[in-house]
Amino acid sequence: MNPSVEPALPSWWLEHALEAEGHPAPAAALEGDASADVAIVGGGYTGLWTALALRERAPELRVALLEAEICGHGPSGRNGGFVHGYWASLASLLPLLGEEEALRLARAGEAIVPGIRAWAQERGEDVWLRERGMLMVSAAPAQDAALERAIAAAEAVGRPDQARPLTREEVAARVASPVFRGGVFFPDGATVHPGLLVRALRRAALEAGVTLHERTPVTRLREGSPSVLETPRGTLRAREVVLATNAGLTGWRPAARHLTNFGSYVVLTEPVPELLAEIGWTGGEAIVDGRMFLHYFRATEDGRVLMGSGSGPIGFGGRLDARFSRDRATVARAEAGLRRLLPGLDGARVERAWGGPIDVSADHLPFFRTKPGTRVHYGAGYSGHGVGPSWLGGRILASLALGADDEWTRLPLATRRVPRLPGEPLRRLGGGLVRASIMACEEAEERGRRPPLAARAGAALPRLLGMELGTR
Ligand SMILES: Cc1cc2nc3c(=O)[nH]c(=O)nc-3n(C[C@H](O)[C@H](O)[C@H](O)COP(=O)(O)OP(=O)(O)OC[C@H]3O[C@@H](n4cnc5c(N)ncnc54)[C@H](O)[C@@H]3O)c2cc1C
Repeated sequence: MNPSVEPALPSWWLEHALEAEGHPAPAAALEGDASADVAIVGGGYTGLWTALALRERAPELRVALLEAEICGHGPSGRNGGFVHGYWASLASLLPLLGEEEALRLARAGEAIVPGIRAWAQERGEDVWLRERGMLMVSAAPAQDAALERAIAAAEAVGRPDQARPLTREEVAARVASPVFRGGVFFPDGATVHPGLLVRALRRAALEAGVTLHERTPVTRLREGSPSVLETPRGTLRAREVVLATNAGLTGWRPAARHLTNFGSYVVLTEPVPELLAEIGWTGGEAIVDGRMFLHYFRATEDGRVLMGSGSGPIGFGGRLDARFSRDRATVARAEAGLRRLLPGLDGARVERAWGGPIDVSADHLPFFRTKPGTRVHYGAGYSGHGVGPSWLGGRILASLALGADDEWTRLPLATRRVPRLPGEPLRRLGGGLVRASIMACEEAEERGRRPPLAARAGAALPRLLGMELGTR
């Protein structure tokens, strides 16, 4: 199937946010030699939250942020805008971290949405934060198990309030679809306008005294005391360095062995508030289905519908190429998802499509570290769930740069052992095989067919090898 529109950047979110801001000129690129106490690379949520936390906690420090394009150019300006902590992933956290640590992380994550709310309110910023929870729906019998796991995990730790089961009728009362079989409601979920959020963070960083250089790609890092960051027209020396380049870290050694990149793509419809009213989806819930390469969907303030598919191509060796911005097949899958999951919106024209890379870690959780023997700190591995968790990530990275041992650096995101992935080319080839097998299984299951044996065998591969990546 061909998509009805070609994937193209910038995203509608970033375009809309830049328009609302009056198309400001990018911050001046770095020219010549400069110095700072802390240098941050990457102007997405992670880099910007880190910069803000540092300016708040140590106002005496000179903080400089280098961004290759403009703030919000990366996934922070392109995502679905789902904001949540970790209650919705409790079922996978429990075997990974054990109950105590899993609960600590889930509780820490509860602070994210109120934290963004308080920050935006204090600054008088409307980032379209809507706290309406997140709904997981089952759209095929094989997806029922994902719902059951989420409900059982919350019950097992005495927090059934964090994953409330919904019958088919209860789901239909929130959003009508002939394929939704039941659901789970996670109250710890919200949506934002990703573009407005990242640009509001940029403004806040500038006002807080962060020195920002846009259109300044860091081409080389020379670790030392101080470290030196090389860029096309200047260098920056800094005692502390924070690398917040997300999928860009996949090719960088200390992180590379734990990370791989997948593509995620979305389609966005024209405004259709009347069709949303017809299917009763007016409560503003963010929705995901029970697939592993999930569909994620939400409505916007002006009644558009965004449908995303996490089924994009797998990268090779950390290269960020056209696979992550031009993949028509994934756009077509997102559009097919829109038509299958929400047939009541059939009259809605798709106006835009875009994609970006997802930095997937071996256990699907982000990790934050200091490279041993250096003052270079880094964090990545959000695995497609970084909008909320980057709020935690910025706090952790600020603590690492300040040399603090505190509530942030003691979170499992900074302390757990992160499993390794196989090296290339096995990672690309094996990952590609598993991805294709899982997709074939999920598509067959949605059609009510038994998946072919080869697909089942491929999908079971990671489990047989004791790996988390692609496990279903
Ligand atoms: C299509 C899509 C949908 C998504 N939907 C959701 C969602 O609904 N909810 C959710 O939680 N997560 C979602 N995600 C993931 C989420 O967007 C990311 O986890 C999050 O934005 C990560 O923020 P970041 O600041 O770490 O990285 P980024 O936003 O990628 O920022 C990194 C920045 O570093 C810059 N950079 C890279 N290399 C260099 C260099 N050498 N020098 C200088 N600068 C450099 C880049 O230009 C970029 O601006 C989605 C992602 C995609 C692609």
